[in-house]
Amino acid sequence: MRIGYGFDSHEFQAGIPLKIGGIVLARDKGLGGHSDGDVLLHALTDALLGAVAAPDIGALFPPSDAKWKDADSVIFVREALKRVRDAGYSVANVDACLILAAPKIGPHAPAIRARVAELLDLDADCVGLKAKTPEGLNLDDAAVAHVVVLLEKTAKKPRRRRQTS
Ligand SMILES: [Zn+2]
Repeated sequence: MRIGYGFDSHEFQAGIPLKIGGIVLARDKGLGGHSDGDVLLHALTDALLGAVAAPDIGALFPPSDAKWKDADSVIFVREALKRVRDAGYSVANVDACLILAAPKIGPHAPAIRARVAELLDLDADCVGLKAKTPEGLNLDDAAVAHVVVLLEKTAKKPRRRRQTS
């Protein structure tokens, strides 16, 4: 088995859509920065990559490359999942914690969990999601995500049959 951990944070900016976990949420501010600013999918990508000791999201998809400006972060998750599978692992479960002042995540949690589960080809009960407000952290203008993933070694390929003469 392998464990992976990812962390990300983005600052809220006016006038851009808010995407968290691949879902667009209603708010007058979105998350700026790299690609579409999907803080949860970025932390998930790094957790998957870290579990197989692959280069991190910033190395694979550098923010300096205009190609990734406004990119859909689903692309990053798909690449990370491919690397997990190529390394001979499958995802067992995911647990995530979001820290943000607004909007309230509770009403959107089932949709976010279902979307993340779909991206990873998991059942929704294999995706945990908690949301906290940043009490005492002075972080009202940012969203933070922590994600852990557990990977299981997939069945080994059958050994090549020995040649018989
Ligand atoms: Zn990010």
